[in-house]
Amino acid sequence: MAEKVRVRFAPSPTGKVHIGNIRAAIFNWLYARHMGGEFLLRVEDTDLERSTPEAIQTLLDCMAWLGLDADGEVMYQTSQREHHLAVAEELVAKGFAYRENKGGQGECVIFRMPKEGVIEYDDLVKGHLTKQAKDTQDFVIVRSDGSPVFHLANVLDDITQGVTHIIRGDDHVENTFKHIQLFKALGAPVPKYAHLPMIVNHAGKPYSKRDGSAFVGEFREQGYLPETLFNYLALLGWAPGDDREIMTREEMVEAFDFAKCKSSPAQFDLKKLTWMNGEYIACQPKAEFERELTARLTAAGLPETPLNGHLDELVGHIQPRTKTYADLPGNCRCFFDEAFPFEAKDVEKRLHAEGVPELLETVAEHFERAPEFVAAALEADIKAFCQARGDKGMGAVVHPVRVALSGSMTGIGLFEMAELLGRERSVRRLRTAAARLRDGSL
Ligand code: GLU
Repeated sequence: MAEKVRVRFAPSPTGKVHIGNIRAAIFNWLYARHMGGEFLLRVEDTDLERSTPEAIQTLLDCMAWLGLDADGEVMYQTSQREHHLAVAEELVAKGFAYRENKGGQGECVIFRMPKEGVIEYDDLVKGHLTKQAKDTQDFVIVRSDGSPVFHLANVLDDITQGVTHIIRGDDHVENTFKHIQLFKALGAPVPKYAHLPMIVNHAGKPYSKRDGSAFVGEFREQGYLPETLFNYLALLGWAPGDDREIMTREEMVEAFDFAKCKSSPAQFDLKKLTWMNGEYIACQPKAEFERELTARLTAAGLPETPLNGHLDELVGHIQPRTKTYADLPGNCRCFFDEAFPFEAKDVEKRLHAEGVPELLETVAEHFERAPEFVAAALEADIKAFCQARGDKGMGAVVHPVRVALSGSMTGIGLFEMAELLGRERSVRRLRTAAARLRDGSL
């Protein structure tokens, strides 16, 4: 029987979880689930200043939010310290390592790299990688203060956890030549490696916080769904090989394959992520969307039960056009708050024109007289009005009316908006806008 696949996510918690890091977790998780193997979590918490309990909690929260459930107990690297040091002693005893007092700083333990030949491995993503032994150097595995170095701890923990495949960012490609020698010296099988391509910005440089949001928590706050972030990050370096982009978790698990992983850098594209989020939001159960909407509106100080029971209709209009939850208070403000802001460029273009105050008043009269204040009837009435004026289309009327009612040119259809606002509020807003245009306050 083939050996059971056992992979691990081995982050060093620092307080915020970078998308590059969590992408490694996602690839590990997908591979483990695809192979029916195990996905382990090892917290590399040896940097005691940065790996605080809060930083570790943030990491665990991010994983839970994204549905990255780990198998078995979480391993904390600091718990293995005695083992790391004991093995370093053994390596010295067997001649694989030696002690040296470097620059009078105290004695450290140094691992011997081969002096000739070549170190090589077949990376599942990058192909065959080699390094001439003469181009390598011996390296420290225990510092003079007695603390084990990353390379030793990382390799030993992988042996302890029985890891078969190491899937991580390609910033570790060089370390791997060292690690392979450690595995060999320790008489342990060398795991298979998959180094994932770097995530880059539009200029091809490593994606960092200078490029925009780079941490999972920020995307969460901005209203991206965990399903979106998972799906999007899974496609940064992997593609199922057909044109599918929106995939369920099950579909991704089913299709995941290192043969379809790319070794070239993966460009982070916020526009695409945002598009994808819109697709996910549009498919959400209405009740869930409504809950989120209400929570966001309340947090923004808008009334808790807006629209006097018309929330349902608003949801129907807003949900399909929402890209992120963070946009909701801004996009919906005009439905709940008479102090909604006016978009300067829309006011300039659509309201600061000859005859607009009169036009708004005329439409206010139409709205006042409308037998039924429902979208279809309002639209038919305004259409007839436009035709009677000799207008080619409805734009000359509809655009100024929309800006007067909502402050901006974007948002849901004008007549649906008027219906939701109701007759009284719509008429009042049109008249107020007309008056303010006349006295110059708008
Ligand atoms: N803690 C290291 C990191 O986060 C480990 C990487 C690994 O071996 O997966 O970069």
